[in-house]
Amino acid sequence: MTTQTHPVDHELIQAAAHVARTRCRGDNHTMAAAARAQDGRIVTTVNAYHFTGGPCAEMVLIGAAAAQGAYELNTIVAVGDRDRGVVPPCGRCRQVLLDYFPSLKVIVGEGDRIRTVLITDLLPESYVWADHQLGAE
Ligand SMILES: [Zn+2]
Repeated sequence: MTTQTHPVDHELIQAAAHVARTRCRGDNHTMAAAARAQDGRIVTTVNAYHFTGGPCAEMVLIGAAAAQGAYELNTIVAVGDRDRGVVPPCGRCRQVLLDYFPSLKVIVGEGDRIRTVLITDLLPESYVWADHQLGAE
């Protein structure tokens, strides 16, 4: 695992925390995510919980960003409601985020251990879907 130090985008954490604090309601919306697009703008979302596997806030964010024309994301962070702070992406999100944005940075940790890591550092020895399709080199 490579350990590189990347600056922490505190404005992004604040954006997610604001949405978590003001938009999360009940059991349906318990997590917020914010991503910095390549052009600098911030996109925010909340999860859509459902027992059948409703999408995490990070998954909602991929579609919401695309709907705004932001197809390249630079950094992402998720923050829990009820002041739970930064929450790392689940395993499914790590895989999807890696496949969509191989050079994505993710803010993880809590308190004075908040840090920015590469998505590839969160999924070592990762499965790259595109490498296993028929016709792949
Ligand atoms: Zn997830």
